[in-house]
Amino acid sequence: NEYQLDEFFNSILAQFEMQFAADTLELTIEAKASDGYLRADKQRILQVMENVVNNARRYIDDKTGKIEIKVEQADTAFLLVSIKDNGRGIAEEDLPYVFDQFYRGEKSRSRQFGGTGLGLSISKYIIDAHGGKMWIESRLGQGTTVHFTLPVFLKP
Ligand code: ATP
Ligand code: MG
Repeated sequence: NEYQLDEFFNSILAQFEMQFAADTLELTIEAKASDGYLRADKQRILQVMENVVNNARRYIDDKTGKIEIKVEQADTAFLLVSIKDNGRGIAEEDLPYVFDQFYRGEKSRSRQFGGTGLGLSISKYIIDAHGGKMWIESRLGQGTTVHFTLPVFLKP
């Protein structure tokens, strides 16, 4: 389906705002207005963002936790979505594997957090299928930022 970008993200972001309203966690949303369009499966993109936000939620501290969602135009052809948290981060040696199926960082420790290790691999698959890219930056003890891009276009 084809969507105007603002229309596409406004409803998704409103949903996250509602989820966080009753929470002590801090959520910041920054979405730049755009006149672009995208072709996407909205349910799937929402699934990706939920995956990533739920990961962030799982690995941040309930009292000092902050999550920041940013939607911006990377260049004329791509939109960039970044989801940043100030949680415990991912060890450098785990980072290359987080998109692998069933990979879970620090196995014994992360078992207490639940999950199957499929979230990020499915998310990356969905973003790839949309013609975008997905990658992750993280520092142990400082936090994690997940980025993905989606192709956008302008209407004549
Ligand atoms: P599932 O998503 O299937 O419930 P999961 O969250 O463990 O399980 P992924 O979403 O694929 O699986 O994440 C893989 C691993 O990457 C996690 O187990 C965790 O170790 C690490 N990870 C992902 N996101 C974060 C984050 N925001 N902060 C710290 N570690 C993370
Ligand atoms: Mg997950």
